[in-house]
Amino acid sequence: DHIVQTTELTKRYGNFAALHRCSLEVLRGEIFGLLGPNGAGKTTLIRLLLGYLHRTSGEANVAGYDPACDSVEVRRRVAYLPGDARLPRHMRGRGVLEFFAQMHPCGDVQRTLDVANRLDLDLSRRVAFMSTGMRQKLALAVVFGPRTPLLILDEPTANLDPSVRGEVLSLVLSERDEGRTVMFSSHVLSEIEQTCDRVAFLRRGELVRKLVMEDLFQRH
Ligand code: ADP
Ligand code: ADP
Repeated sequence: DHIVQTTELTKRYGNFAALHRCSLEVLRGEIFGLLGPNGAGKTTLIRLLLGYLHRTSGEANVAGYDPACDSVEVRRRVAYLPGDARLPRHMRGRGVLEFFAQMHPCGDVQRTLDVANRLDLDLSRRVAFMSTGMRQKLALAVVFGPRTPLLILDEPTANLDPSVRGEVLSLVLSERDEGRTVMFSSHVLSEIEQTCDRVAFLRRGELVRKLVMEDLFQRH
């Protein structure tokens, strides 16, 4: 049973293919890793899945809907952390969390506060006065708030120091325990190894390999 499926999904800018004939499936309840260097097409794929970008060709289905036609239905069922998350600078951390929890159809204030607490975040500070790492934690607390069936994280551990990185990975693992599906992109193999059930390797817009994690270990 899959929650994401793409068939030959392609996005071109002129003659340049940011994503070229990408076919993959993400199964319900798994942690799916999208691994590749900068520029590989990870963000392009994610934005196509949410309907923020229009595909050139191919098919996509997310939680039962085609993001090209029903992006509103898709986004109701997905919590998404963009790579360049922007937060209202004038608000305090707590206000940001309450605001986004109220905005999302699956929002849950207590849950988002719990996540912030787990990340040891000072919520009394205004976003404008937070460090990059604190803003990233706040963005994570926002995205882990809604109880959506699918969570898509674009480079969630970028800008974080190693101890917080570990905390993020353990948050991802607890989502799976609650039956949610998580898809996350990274250019760091080790964190994909630690967390994911299956992984797709992207390079220059092409899906070069799909692996079940156990197979990766066997081949080492
Ligand atoms: P990743 O997330 O893996 O770092 P991206 O999906 O952001 O990669 O980018 C894939 C490729 O598409 C990159 O080479 C990038 O420069 C290119 N690209 C992304 N957006 C555009 C755009 N609007 N116009 C032209 N090229 C783009
Ligand atoms: P400035 O610092 O230029 O005076 P403000 O603090 O008034 O900007 O923010 C203007 C709006 O831009 C804010 O409401 C916020 O939503 C958005 N914004 C701009 N940059 C960022 C950022 N780095 N993080 C979050 N939100 C931002």
